[in-house]
Amino acid sequence: MCGIVGFTGNNKAAPFLLEGLKKLEYRGYDSAGIAVLSGDKIKTEKTVGRIKSLMEKTDNGKTVDGNIGIGHTRWATHGAPTTENAHPHLSGNLKFAVVHNGIIENYSALRQKLIDEGVAFNSQTDTEVVPHLLQKYYNGNITETVSKVMGLLEGSFALGIVCSDYPDTLIAAKRFSPLIIGVGEKSNIIASDVTAIAAVTKDIIYLEDDEIALLTPSEVKVLDTNGKTLNKEITTISWDVSAAEKGGFKHYMMKEIFEQPKAIKQALSGRIKNGEVYFENFSLTKEKLKNINRIVIVACGSAYHAGIVGKYVIEEMTRIPCEIDLASEFRYRKPIIDEKVLTVLISQSGETADTLAALKEAKSLGSHIVSIVNVVGSSIAKASDDVLYTWAGPEIAVATTKGYSTQVAVLYLFSAFIAKALNTLDDKTITDFLNDVKELPEKIEEILKEKDAIKELAKHSVNDSSLFFIGRNIDYAVSLEASLKLKEISYIHSESYAAGELKHGTISLIEEGRTVIALACCETLKDKLLSNIKEVAARGAFVITCANEGNTDFIKESNEMIYVPKVNELLIASTEVIPFQIYSYYVAYYKGCDIDKPRNLAKSVTVE
Ligand code: GLU
Repeated sequence: MCGIVGFTGNNKAAPFLLEGLKKLEYRGYDSAGIAVLSGDKIKTEKTVGRIKSLMEKTDNGKTVDGNIGIGHTRWATHGAPTTENAHPHLSGNLKFAVVHNGIIENYSALRQKLIDEGVAFNSQTDTEVVPHLLQKYYNGNITETVSKVMGLLEGSFALGIVCSDYPDTLIAAKRFSPLIIGVGEKSNIIASDVTAIAAVTKDIIYLEDDEIALLTPSEVKVLDTNGKTLNKEITTISWDVSAAEKGGFKHYMMKEIFEQPKAIKQALSGRIKNGEVYFENFSLTKEKLKNINRIVIVACGSAYHAGIVGKYVIEEMTRIPCEIDLASEFRYRKPIIDEKVLTVLISQSGETADTLAALKEAKSLGSHIVSIVNVVGSSIAKASDDVLYTWAGPEIAVATTKGYSTQVAVLYLFSAFIAKALNTLDDKTITDFLNDVKELPEKIEEILKEKDAIKELAKHSVNDSSLFFIGRNIDYAVSLEASLKLKEISYIHSESYAAGELKHGTISLIEEGRTVIALACCETLKDKLLSNIKEVAARGAFVITCANEGNTDFIKESNEMIYVPKVNELLIASTEVIPFQIYSYYVAYYKGCDIDKPRNLAKSVTVE
């Protein structure tokens, strides 16, 4: 998820590795480390927290001898952020050191097998299986060995490897996680992105999936997994470093919007097997679920909106009554909770103070706690009975996008998990639903291609002083998030209304030219929503409708249309929210707002 650097050259590796890691700090991380090979010994330095402390420990790397090494900033996915879990990880015979970005989905089975064979593990990470497997399969030929191990790994990885038998060869390999090679004069390097490379060279090679690179100070060789040498193109980059940090986008928010397909894939990774949901280390068994008569979801902000989507999906699929509450309300209203209630907490950071307090309250009343969080080892994760990590990777923009989308994705899995355990849906329905979930990243890619059209449309709202979002059912749940996104970053007042509720009061605010954005992907209720759209159109509203591709029912009553690919009706939140993240972004952009750091807001709200 985070950062890798590696160096082989004629001068000391550690100063470069530490500088490189500093350049990757912007990606967010919880711990860091380096491994440098000197003679036939690999020396590691690790820390929880800032790179600065590694620099202090080693006098900016000067006290570490050796011209070849690897470095890592970790953003934990498996195992808490501790020194033991920080990378690099070593093989038992200390011959191999490995840094890894990504998730090894089948690590649990691999680890158990190695343990049965007598291998001792020093960390809780998924990564540590890699150095042990390298040791196990090492036959004196590093390419064959790495290739063999890659064949055993499932999931995503970018790997940086040093082996004491190869005193000047840095080894890299990847599948689904980024890794690039910097081609220098007397040194060659690897890194997760160009920011860590740009100071040394602008000539880079993009490593592709299932390729292995062997770097010496004077040569870069890229091979496929059969050992065949590949002819790789060297690209000269013209990006400046700050653009590179944002993946070429102007703001982290847009970068993160575009990361959503990948983030959702990550959130699903390893969790759908043979048409059903599998959660690792999950203590909420079928037997326990049978005793649950109510689910209460508690969260704040966008996580609360994700929870509302969850309520609709859980109730539909499991028929268990599901309530949703704001953490700041829940904690002070003597909630009616007992051991028959399952409490689900949702928080990106896992540190949200109100949510943590709600967790303690629910726990003290005997409820089983499942949390959905992004940050491994966070306070909420630690205090929960079970944790479902969203694995969205670090989110830097204050206004959440991929955080929300992955929470929703995990809630789909959770709903299917309960439905299967309690037999509330037949196996085929569950399998079909999960297949639809797996298609979401692709559908979102399609919507992202419409960025420029949405950018144009967003000009419409630049002068809005106030606007409305309306929808029914999950459309309504999404409208809450769409409305919040716009408010957060563009500072335009907006309200989200259950479409049928408008006439019970707020329709008095609809006047000539008032923008009303109607979310209309829930086709079961399309006639009802159409009536509501007619109500506002008749009063002069400027209507923008978001509907499924191919649905022409709303064209007549709408001034503008946005289309998204049609998906399973329970999953519309994942597609429909995307255009409005982009819409909000561009409204804020045209207004010159500070998009990544909106005024008065903090990323993680750790105060009441
Ligand atoms: N899954 C690995 C871990 O938890 C790597 C995380 C990362 O990409 O930083 O250690």
